[in-house]
Amino acid sequence: MKDWLQKEKVSQERIAELMNLTELCMKQTIFQYGGKFYQQTGGTAMGNPLSPFMADIFMGHLETKLKEIEKDFPKIWFRYVDDILSIVPEDFNINGFLETMNKQYATIKFTYEYENNQQLPFLDILITRKDNKLEYDIYRKPTHTNNYIPADSYQPWSQKLAAFNSMVHRCCALPLSPGNRKREFDHIKRVANNLGYKTRTIDTLIKNHISKQRLKEITTFQRDKPDNRRIKLTHYPVITNKLCQIFRKNDLEPVTTNQHKLKTLLGSLKDKDPKTDQSGIYKITCSGCDKLYIGQTKRNIITRYKEHMHKARYNIEGKSAIGDHIIATGHTITELNLTLEKPVARISELPIREAIAMHKNNREKLLNDDLGPLDIDLLKCLHGTSHIHIPRNRHTHPGSDHTQVLGPITTQRN
Ligand SMILES: [Zn+2]
Repeated sequence: MKDWLQKEKVSQERIAELMNLTELCMKQTIFQYGGKFYQQTGGTAMGNPLSPFMADIFMGHLETKLKEIEKDFPKIWFRYVDDILSIVPEDFNINGFLETMNKQYATIKFTYEYENNQQLPFLDILITRKDNKLEYDIYRKPTHTNNYIPADSYQPWSQKLAAFNSMVHRCCALPLSPGNRKREFDHIKRVANNLGYKTRTIDTLIKNHISKQRLKEITTFQRDKPDNRRIKLTHYPVITNKLCQIFRKNDLEPVTTNQHKLKTLLGSLKDKDPKTDQSGIYKITCSGCDKLYIGQTKRNIITRYKEHMHKARYNIEGKSAIGDHIIATGHTITELNLTLEKPVARISELPIREAIAMHKNNREKLLNDDLGPLDIDLLKCLHGTSHIHIPRNRHTHPGSDHTQVLGPITTQRN
């Protein structure tokens, strides 16, 4: 990259700065797996926006180097990032050339594919050699499934058509022979039909595309567009479509989004901290003395912990017993002092579980303001399979999930 910047006549100062920034960006590829953190040490990371650019610079550098050492460098050589298409004479020593290429860097290995039946796929085009001329066709891998958004999917119409739009665009943009182009259009229509779209819909797409292309050929003038005043709409079929029409008439560009995504139902793929991301009964000990606090929360215990710490940091007294303790004594408490005593998923169980946790600890050491009524029968019944009734007249601090049980906890055996 440095060589490339020097060739582009960038000042030394700027080069140093850019190198620094690039290194920073390329090393920030930290990921979590199985509760452990990893950092990529070699190569570029998938998904890093800098990766394709870095790969391109690297390949450019490699090409320059190869041209210097290999006098037989192919005359026809096209490259897209790391995919290369080359035309070589029949007596060209491919294996020898490949060996030289692979000798340059231990971690970079190239392979090659030779034309088969006078055909060779490159990127998404299939190149065919026919009567000393090249013909192009759309290439799809044998594993391609033709799976796109079905017509009856709960999605904005424009999003459903996006895949077909791009296929039509590609078909028009590539120099396909008329026969191949017609075959590709038929293919797109067939795929669309299978997903529940009408042939008419695709025909309209094609027609629009061709007329747009013609307009481009005739004039370089752009159609007058109002300023980018966009409006975001949540997608509700029919209503949204009508609203979109109204907005367009008023020079507003509607953008529809869909909030009901499978992703939001499935939740995060990130590793969760097995302990602090759970709800239930937690214990916070003090590093400065032997006092401790027992609390309950229906959210993550780490979230609740942070709330306690917030009160201490901003000297807010009377809102959290643990916060008050830190303010009064100056003792240190960190995340390491937080432990999950008992994971509880059912909210109704929280007060009882909290009472039990308090009971298990020495009352003298507890920082809790109230210890809650504790019935020994209650503990007994928890080990059995009886139902526990908690009176409804509970009173909670605003903004706190620490519940004070006012009435006695009554238990009934069935
Ligand atoms: Zn303390």
